[in-house]
Amino acid sequence: MTNVEHIGLAVRDLEVSIPLFEKLFNTNCYKTEVVESEKVKTAFFQKGETKVELLESLDANGVIARFIEKKGEGIHHIALAVKDIQTEMKRLQNEGFQLLNEEPKKGADNKLICFLHPKGTNGILIELCQEIE
Ligand code: ZN
Repeated sequence: MTNVEHIGLAVRDLEVSIPLFEKLFNTNCYKTEVVESEKVKTAFFQKGETKVELLESLDANGVIARFIEKKGEGIHHIALAVKDIQTEMKRLQNEGFQLLNEEPKKGADNKLICFLHPKGTNGILIELCQEIE
């Protein structure tokens, strides 16, 4: 991996959280995007090299809705940028990490993504992401 690409935060309501984070970061949200496969609406902020992704569930049974039900709003995942997601997925699998998807899938913000099972990563959900050329 090359760097932390973004931090994903689970929120109940983007209409509340976007203005909140705009005030906090003193910058405007630069993009919102629906990711149908994950049943989420996302909103992105960038400050220097640092990106934050807010995630609101579009489905009462979606992963973000269930996360908030269990743990409340807060940090949902850490995304690591990788140059070649297939190679990195194989490497991590060989190291004993459990992948939540066998093939990379299309994520928000023009990325191919794969999640690692938090059971094998000290409870932290890790997302690998590779920019789609
Ligand atoms: Zn993410």
